[in-house]
Amino acid sequence: MLAATTNPTISHFAQRLGMNFWQSLTRRGILGWSLALVFISFYAILYWSYDMDAYVYARQQQNVLAPLAKKLDAARSGNLAARHGIESQIAHVMASVALKGEGQNAYHAYLLPENRVFVDRLRNLKTQPVSAVIEGWAAHLNPLSQLIRRSDADRWFLYGFIYTALVVLMGIRFYRRWRHDKYQKMRTLSVMAVQTVLSFLLPSLLIYFNSKEFYFSYFWPLKLDYFLPSTFSDYPRAMALWAVMMSFVAVPVLTYLFGKRWYCSWVCGCGALANTMGDPFRQLSDKSERAWAVERVTVYSVLALTVVLTALIFINEFRGVDDEFGQWVFSMKRWYGFFISAGFAGVIGTGFYPLMGTRVWCRFGCPQAAILGILQVFFSKFRITTNGGQCIACGSCSANCEMGIDVRSYAMAGEDIKRASCVGCGLCMSVCPRGVLRLGNS
Ligand code: SF4
Ligand code: SF4
Ligand code: SF4
Repeated sequence: MLAATTNPTISHFAQRLGMNFWQSLTRRGILGWSLALVFISFYAILYWSYDMDAYVYARQQQNVLAPLAKKLDAARSGNLAARHGIESQIAHVMASVALKGEGQNAYHAYLLPENRVFVDRLRNLKTQPVSAVIEGWAAHLNPLSQLIRRSDADRWFLYGFIYTALVVLMGIRFYRRWRHDKYQKMRTLSVMAVQTVLSFLLPSLLIYFNSKEFYFSYFWPLKLDYFLPSTFSDYPRAMALWAVMMSFVAVPVLTYLFGKRWYCSWVCGCGALANTMGDPFRQLSDKSERAWAVERVTVYSVLALTVVLTALIFINEFRGVDDEFGQWVFSMKRWYGFFISAGFAGVIGTGFYPLMGTRVWCRFGCPQAAILGILQVFFSKFRITTNGGQCIACGSCSANCEMGIDVRSYAMAGEDIKRASCVGCGLCMSVCPRGVLRLGNS
């Protein structure tokens, strides 16, 4: 790998922070950066290309939009306005902002779900370059999608298929590598099965039977929409109950019994990808004390943001009024989706695998991790016990810890490990040549 030059000012700042972030970004070499760019681009295109295409297209189509805006103006004075209703008004607004060159506003307008009616109309013209390519890729999966969903494949089906295929293929690789280790084999089989059945096949089959798509392996706070008053009107009662019971009964009970690992290393799809596709990058996690300090600030900040946003949506839904407050809450939810769900969890969370290790999102952002971590430290029986007398300080445990925990220092001191971030992957135990570490309950 190529060693990149380091800006002394930034490097000094990074040293003061005590973190290796700057090194993470400058010493991964050409291969690491290339892989990161591929992952980042894939997520960015998947999430945002449709909106960007619609925006660019509308800007290019001023000749079409200008007469449309005039026509809609004329229609407003007659009965046509009633017939066209909200779609006409939206089209007019979008045409106006695009014509005035207010690109940012136009872009935001396109992100509003109501505007999708008009955006879809633009898309039907099939002139969008990037999103049309994605549609073309997705079309290859139409036979499978028709078989299990009775509908054509879209970008999310394509994404789910690629994600599941990676978890299974890289899961087989991981399983073979650890075929003599029962714990690693069992949890790898578990994440492969959960991803394939609960996160890919079952949601598709629900669509096949005309039910609403639902992911049984995710719940609040990872899925904001699964714990709201409207959850009970938007989803079948059994699904809504499942989501609430998982969040508020299963999470504390199972975490008490098994620690965070029951979810993060056996069930969650993000953990599944991190432990399979991300396995070659696990050594890249920053082990410094300051990284640990930053992690505590960021992960609990995202949790606080999630709790506040959920409360705001709750209040808004109870009020049931579409006023300024409602619009503001709606726009907050949109920005949360843009920055946290798509930007942080998706683009950075996976795109940074080759730069900062596999668990960037799990470590620094996941609100579910924050809740599970609090329960693990203050409530759970789970801990990693150490037999310090046997430790030869080889450091394999720390090097392989995907959550950046300096396991060796605990082992050498003979201390049990009970850290909020530990996902119980057991790799530290598996790589230890002296059998010093053991996952278990107190
Ligand atoms: S930390 Fe969050 S995203 Fe990562 S495996 Fe756990 S619950 Fe899933
Ligand atoms: S301390 Fe061990 S079990 Fe916990 S996350 Fe690190 S490697 Fe996995
Ligand atoms: S891998 Fe085992 S022997 Fe090596 S430092 Fe860790 S606990 Fe000690």
